[in-house]
Amino acid sequence: MAEYKGVMIFGELANGKLASITAELLGCGRNFADELQEDLCCLLAGDKVNEAVAKEAIAFGADKVYVIEDALLKEYQGETFVQVLEKLARESSPKIILMGQTHVGRDLAPRLAFRLGVGLSTDCVDLSMDSETKLLQQTKPVYGGNAQAIFTCDSMPQIVTIRAKTMSAMERDGLRKGTVMPVKAEIDMSRVGTKIIEKVKEEVTGIKLEDAPVIVSGGRGIGSPEPFKTTLKELADVLHGAVGASRPPADNGWVPEAVHVGLTGKIVAPEVYVAIAISGASQHVAGCSGSKTIVAINKDPEANIFREADFGVVGRYEEVVPAFTAKLKELLAA
Ligand SMILES: Cc1cc2nc3c(=O)[nH]c(=O)nc-3n(C[C@H](O)[C@H](O)[C@H](O)COP(=O)(O)OP(=O)(O)OC[C@H]3O[C@@H](n4cnc5c(N)ncnc54)[C@H](O)[C@@H]3O)c2cc1C
Repeated sequence: MAEYKGVMIFGELANGKLASITAELLGCGRNFADELQEDLCCLLAGDKVNEAVAKEAIAFGADKVYVIEDALLKEYQGETFVQVLEKLARESSPKIILMGQTHVGRDLAPRLAFRLGVGLSTDCVDLSMDSETKLLQQTKPVYGGNAQAIFTCDSMPQIVTIRAKTMSAMERDGLRKGTVMPVKAEIDMSRVGTKIIEKVKEEVTGIKLEDAPVIVSGGRGIGSPEPFKTTLKELADVLHGAVGASRPPADNGWVPEAVHVGLTGKIVAPEVYVAIAISGASQHVAGCSGSKTIVAINKDPEANIFREADFGVVGRYEEVVPAFTAKLKELLAA
């Protein structure tokens, strides 16, 4: 039987650079590797993986970076990526594999868990290690975010996907030492049964929702597409944030699908989340409950969103939001 050792991160790249989720996973993985007194390694795969990116993974906590370059890894495709990840997982036998709860992680983690015949916890928001068994305690929201459950899995490796912004990256240390190891991809195309026919690029202007420190979201009560581009955008701009939405505005085509927050949309955790004319249904709250501060603006004092909010204003958004924006401008100019 294999001797399981160490922690492995599946690293994601964004425009050739280390994605922020990867730094967060490395920060989390570093703690467990230290607790186990074993290595933290990071897999970076693509058609070209810049050496500087591998060094960046070391600066953020990795002891070892496996670099897999192959033209077939240019675009993410589950059936090719799972092959390289499965091979590396079998060869290096980590105790823990951490991945992001991203579009890639959501697709790749179940494929990997199935191939290795082990369990998987997705969308975890907290992880700790049992001091006696050294098994991960994996906390994830359940029942649409209304409760949290803790899972543990005694099959190895323990595979977990982690929600963005729930773990902290460690301070970048450019002097950290680590090794970079090139690994051959050896992809068997006879096992790849699908091909990418078309890619539709996410429609995003300005700051991406996942990266925004402040999100100004509007709900069905906004009433039409226009205020998203004017009233809400103006407030978001003053706060250097991004405009988001609940599901109905996205379903109605008032905003791009890419900015829909919630169980079936993006899970966000900004410093400040401003929920405007959003009732606070559990499926929406599941996507924003990780925000540090929630501010609600709603004309209905009984709206559920006020139960989730740290600050609330009861009133019509048409009056409250412009006044709020004007006051902020005044304070920022002072
Ligand atoms: C399986 C499933 C998955 C789902 N996934 C998601 C998801 O990912 N994200 C999501 O958001 N929803 C999701 N939903 C839908 C969810 O249940 C709610 O229907 C939705 O969140 C309601 O959106 P809302 O709050 O914008 O609209 P509403 O519930 O209609 O609320 C509108 C609010 O606007 C207020 N309002 C109206 N006019 C004004 C005004 N002039 N000024 C101030 N306030 C005003 C009203 O008082 C009300 O509170 C999902 C549902 C299901 C069944």
